[in-house]
Amino acid sequence: MPDIRIKTPNLDDIFEKWKQKAARTDRKRMEKEFGTKGAVFSLDAVSGAEYVKDTVKEAAIYFAVKKSLGPAPKGKEENTVTAPRVSREQFYSFKGSGKINKEEWKGNEIIPQFESIQAVPCKTCKGKGYIENKCKTCKGTGKIEETFTVLVVEEQNKEKKPFTYPCGACYGTGNRTEPCKECEGHKNLYKYEVLPVPFQTVVTGVPILQSSAQTKYEKEIRDDLHKMIEDVEGIRFNNFKELESKAEASLGYWNKNIKKTIISAGSDYKSYEKDKDAQITTQIYLFPMIQMYAETKRGRRFEIYSLGSGTKFMVYSNF
Ligand SMILES: [Zn+2]
Ligand SMILES: [Zn+2]
Repeated sequence: MPDIRIKTPNLDDIFEKWKQKAARTDRKRMEKEFGTKGAVFSLDAVSGAEYVKDTVKEAAIYFAVKKSLGPAPKGKEENTVTAPRVSREQFYSFKGSGKINKEEWKGNEIIPQFESIQAVPCKTCKGKGYIENKCKTCKGTGKIEETFTVLVVEEQNKEKKPFTYPCGACYGTGNRTEPCKECEGHKNLYKYEVLPVPFQTVVTGVPILQSSAQTKYEKEIRDDLHKMIEDVEGIRFNNFKELESKAEASLGYWNKNIKKTIISAGSDYKSYEKDKDAQITTQIYLFPMIQMYAETKRGRRFEIYSLGSGTKFMVYSNF
């Protein structure tokens, strides 16, 4: 089995690298914090052994993702509804606008489009809005026929005689009109299209970093790694399972926070694997991270972080 152990940087080397960087950035400040009054200031006198109070070994996990934010899934749905229902629908219009930025978009990705509304004459009533039926009261005759029993002459003999008058339900026409149930009397139905929002396609590289040290520099470290991953040495893994099983042996140390970080980065990784808009573009890097708690000669506390192996590491500090 190949040696998967990575050598963590020497503490003096980390301190030295930080010291040089800090002196380059602001030598006056170094002099103020570490110098002695009346003596010539020398960087050589500033040593890790003297000013580093405590050291914790942590770890960080990094991988990069390419996220493509593109159009919503293709497809067109058509709805045909009555006039009152079309007026209750929320329509959208993109006429005259360019492509839409998906990250800024709030709401559904598939939306009813205003310009697509079309009137469709109702088939049930042939666009009249009503249906003509035979009058039920007069059975379509327009007349009500009754038979009177009439008492005839002196003897008052009972005699049946017909009597007819116009039907009051259909005003004597024999027909009655009722609103069409399909279009509810509105003559038309309304057809509209439900279409994807016209998003523009944007491909962005997203660096993912999780560290057990919980520094304030995660964003800075992440962006640095994204630009210069080759300048830092970490242990590379092809999948999280492998990382989980070899992390402790690779680092040569272990703690609860590292374990938690690996679990949380693993679930991040899985969600990117499932995300159809995302593509993981790098291997997974495990970096040793060393957190130093230091104090200047003047008593000002600060921290130094290293990320990477003894051969290639980067240094961060809030000095
Ligand atoms: Zn109708
Ligand atoms: Zn009638």
